[in-house]
Amino acid sequence: MDTDPSRRIYANRTLNLRSIKAIGYDLDYTLVHYNPVEWERRAYEHTRDRLLERGWPVGELEFDPDQVIQGLTIDLELGNLLKVTRFGYVIRAVHGTKRYQFSQLRRTYAGTVVDLAEDRWVFLNTMFSMSEAALFAQIVDLADQGLIPEVMGYEDLYRTVRDSLDDAHMEGTLKAEILADPERFVEPDPQVPRTLLDQKAAGKRLMLITNSDWDYARRIMEYAFDPYLGDGMSWRDLFDTVIVSARKPGFFFDDHTLYHVVDEDLSLLTPHAGVAESGAVYFGGCARRVEESLGISGDEILYFGDHLFGDVHASKAQLRWRTALILRELESEVDALDAFASKETRLTELMADKETLEVELAGLHLEQLRRVESGDRPSKQSNKAIETVHARLAKLDDEIAPLAIEAGVLNNAHWGLLMRSGLDKSLFARQVERYADVYTSRVSNFLEATPFAYLRAARASLPHEPV
Ligand SMILES: [Mg+2]
Repeated sequence: MDTDPSRRIYANRTLNLRSIKAIGYDLDYTLVHYNPVEWERRAYEHTRDRLLERGWPVGELEFDPDQVIQGLTIDLELGNLLKVTRFGYVIRAVHGTKRYQFSQLRRTYAGTVVDLAEDRWVFLNTMFSMSEAALFAQIVDLADQGLIPEVMGYEDLYRTVRDSLDDAHMEGTLKAEILADPERFVEPDPQVPRTLLDQKAAGKRLMLITNSDWDYARRIMEYAFDPYLGDGMSWRDLFDTVIVSARKPGFFFDDHTLYHVVDEDLSLLTPHAGVAESGAVYFGGCARRVEESLGISGDEILYFGDHLFGDVHASKAQLRWRTALILRELESEVDALDAFASKETRLTELMADKETLEVELAGLHLEQLRRVESGDRPSKQSNKAIETVHARLAKLDDEIAPLAIEAGVLNNAHWGLLMRSGLDKSLFARQVERYADVYTSRVSNFLEATPFAYLRAARASLPHEPV
């Protein structure tokens, strides 16, 4: 069977599902998908309104879902949004909402390598970052006009926006809105419950490990799962272990107390000693405790999450769990690449022609140089040949330029593809390679793959290797 490329599972490292004994799942944007534009719009509006209360003149600002994509980097020093390559080079910069021209980009960033360990940079890990970064960029425009009171600089500006967004109250409000009107926010995928049913039937122990609280987790899982399970079955029957309010990424690093939710209606907690028992609901705890309870170790556990740092990086770096990154944007990314495929082929041909001509030109220049060095005059013939090659190169560039521009705006008019920066892989793609053993657009792509799949890593190629 030939799977649609936008729904395939892509492996950075080979993963044999038969050797996986337990599978952990994140909830939000992993098991349950939300309409990201609706969610981010509401997050944006909440934050904007908080800033309005502080007296900032932001009442006219509107959320533009295309303004920012995940995987960008904020430069706190200069107030810019950046697209960065896997090596840390900046290939596109936007100040506020205005894009840097090439010469300005070069002047500002030619000597800069973005190292995410430095405080200057904020990496936009998830779709949740869209609202925050979009609002920050718009407010940079206002700050440049001197319209923002009491703010010292771009970093201070960012912290204020961030602190307004971070408010737990906002998440509570948003989640209450989702529960009140789930049709508006949640995009149910009936194949997700079926995927988990197969995994359970194949003997995998399933775990839900979410930062959401119990009341929210229960209600949203009922909404997204129960109608598709049938026979009076509930989502609870799928999971051996349910851990809510897990506080990831700390869950993977620290030793938090595990609580048993003893009264599920009143959310009453008691500290729980010993191993986590099957069928119970727990609060907090830590990943080491999960391993002990299951009696299995890192490489027998596969963890699914959408948060590059909080789910995938943390579980991989600390415990060597196998990791699956859920990246819904991959669908439009792959579709955009597919629609561009014939132009991409043409672009590759033109670049190869250009390379041939450049070699020819270098040879002609060297010939001239040698002639002059040996006391001869430059020959008219080779001058003419050089002119001809230059003219052919100019003609090629005329054809290359619009294709290269088009390649740079695939899937998003401001930033292009999530996984590419110019001709190179993006910094985001580099993080995906490092921490996600496999990545795919949704959990249900594992339905077709079955719980017995052998997911083989693609052969990696280096510049010297034949393609
Ligand atoms: Mg999530």
